Amino acid sequence: MNAKTPRIIGILALQGSFKEHADMIRKLGHDVRFVRNLEDTEGISACIVPGGESTTLMKLLKKTGLDECMKKSVADGMPIFGTCAGMIILAELGLIDIEVDRNAYGPQLSSFETKVDFRGEDFPGIFIRAPKVSKVAGGVEVLAKVDEVPVLVQQNKVLVGSFHPELTKDSRVHEFFLRNV
Ligand code: GLN
Repeated sequence: MNAKTPRIIGILALQGSFKEHADMIRKLGHDVRFVRNLEDTEGISACIVPGGESTTLMKLLKKTGLDECMKKSVADGMPIFGTCAGMIILAELGLIDIEVDRNAYGPQLSSFETKVDFRGEDFPGIFIRAPKVSKVAGGVEVLAKVDEVPVLVQQNKVLVGSFHPELTKDSRVHEFFLRNV
């Protein structure tokens, strides 16, 4: 798409760090729709599933029917981006062919900041009780790694990261996502 064409980007706003994603999307010149029920998905061009608490988030998704809506929209080609708990959710819904271990970085390292190798460039990686990717199927592209562990991967138009680019001032990961929109 033309980078200047504004789109409505849906941001799941049931729980977690959705406001920070909204700031980033607005900074990049797009409109934001906070998604809390099925009606809110009308007219969105893409969707972001933020970090938070994946068990709670999944319960709320099921209660609202947004889980099935998400699956259908992704099957119809809608780009979707999940960060942290969002990564767990998208893997559990079978929207990306990876396996993740929740909170697998261990208590000492539960929250940390480190340099991520994002397509050969350094990116500031903020990890908060992050899931660790333990398996990546063929067809899943690894876009960023820390110590050989994938931390940002993509399959078709589904992008997931175990860290929080929305908590930085660096918009490169969001820009990368929006290229699919
Ligand atoms: N630890 C959380 C979970 O398992 C994810 C943490 C986050 O999204 N920052 O759901």
